[in-house]
Amino acid sequence: MPRIYDVSRTISPTLAVWPGDEPFSAERQLDLARGDRVNLTRLSFSPHVGTHMDAPWHTEPVERHPADLPVDIYLGPARVVSVPRRAGAITPADLGEIALAGVPRLLIHTWYSDQTDEQWSPDFVYPSVELIDWLAEQGVILLGLDSPSVDAFTSADLPGHHRLAHHGIANLENLCLKGVPDGLYELIALPLKLAGVCGSPVRAVLRELA
Ligand SMILES: [Zn+2]
Repeated sequence: MPRIYDVSRTISPTLAVWPGDEPFSAERQLDLARGDRVNLTRLSFSPHVGTHMDAPWHTEPVERHPADLPVDIYLGPARVVSVPRRAGAITPADLGEIALAGVPRLLIHTWYSDQTDEQWSPDFVYPSVELIDWLAEQGVILLGLDSPSVDAFTSADLPGHHRLAHHGIANLENLCLKGVPDGLYELIALPLKLAGVCGSPVRAVLRELA
């Protein structure tokens, strides 16, 4: 049986979120213990809580929301590569001599995966524009990070988000790749079919190739 790695953060009220984003909360509407027929909750949270994708509409003036995107972006061969860089922008040189060899999805594993779900740090790494251009040349259609953004925490003009959008490359943010060996996998990380919003949580898993 091929091994399956769950590379998602656990969504709970204690999960750390981007400063100012609405954290996850679940309000109890009906309660078995009070004699209701079912337990029923109402959820409230930013779509950028936990492991998620950004829809193009998050940063671009285009009506492209999670429900508008083809699911096959988020399903298929993916390469996991560890990058030792601690801070700043990841360059093509940081990836070393990796050969993507036609693998259209790249997941970058950094120190940020060692953070617990409760920890949040602003000094995460993010892709340089140079790296994004290089990935586009390699035919990459999805870039996944364990960092909470594809731009620096302090970035105002968001060059990473815009460059990915320019090339039509999808992103995943807040992956948790702790314990996942570098290599080739099948990625399954489908967004919810949400219309009209800026992103969606995903349940991201990596399946070992047989
Ligand atoms: Zn996001």
